[in-house]
Amino acid sequence: MTAPNETPPRVDYTHQVCGTTNTLSRDAALEMAANPDSRPSLYCVGCGDAHPAKEFVWDADNAPVSVPIA
Ligand SMILES: [Zn+2]
Repeated sequence: MTAPNETPPRVDYTHQVCGTTNTLSRDAALEMAANPDSRPSLYCVGCGDAHPAKEFVWDADNAPVSVPIA
């Protein structure tokens, strides 16, 4: 249910615990933008495991990924 030409506002996110930057797939980024609660946990390539969304921030503005995008 997303427009094909819609650009995800933020795709790179950092795991604050280990400092690794991760990149969401386009579909996942759009889903997060529309409904942050859809992903209570996120995968971190640095840790090789999933962690609570509250441990991550968006690279673009250091905003918590668990907060809806205005
Ligand atoms: Zn990590």
